[in-house]
Amino acid sequence: MHEKVANCRRDFLHKRSRELVDSYDAIVIEDLNMKTMSQCLNLGKSVSDNAWGMFTTFLKYKLENEGKLLVKVDKWFPSSKTCHYCGEINKELELSDKEWTCSACGCTIDRDYNASKNIRDEGLRLLALIA
Ligand SMILES: [Zn+2]
Repeated sequence: MHEKVANCRRDFLHKRSRELVDSYDAIVIEDLNMKTMSQCLNLGKSVSDNAWGMFTTFLKYKLENEGKLLVKVDKWFPSSKTCHYCGEINKELELSDKEWTCSACGCTIDRDYNASKNIRDEGLRLLALIA
């Protein structure tokens, strides 16, 4: 049973990474430490199984095989705390805050959407440095 689940997961990660590598010339990810994260958030074994680590490994070698790039944004980059619209940093942001309002520009911000925009922009900035 455990082997079947593991194979199923690996298969999914291979397919999803292939789709992404076929669709993009560069992929930007946050360089997360999932072991620390699962301990901090009490997410349990499912996250510490490290599917994310496997996924990023698949992404990296598939991209490199095609001369494409995996860009890792530093784990200390404040992707969630920075307002994507104006650049203000919300020092009060808590892990439980899924949405917040920027004190500088007043925009209502979805945590994950905002973080993804900031990670993309930081990745583009890093790509420009090596181009
Ligand atoms: Zn703002």
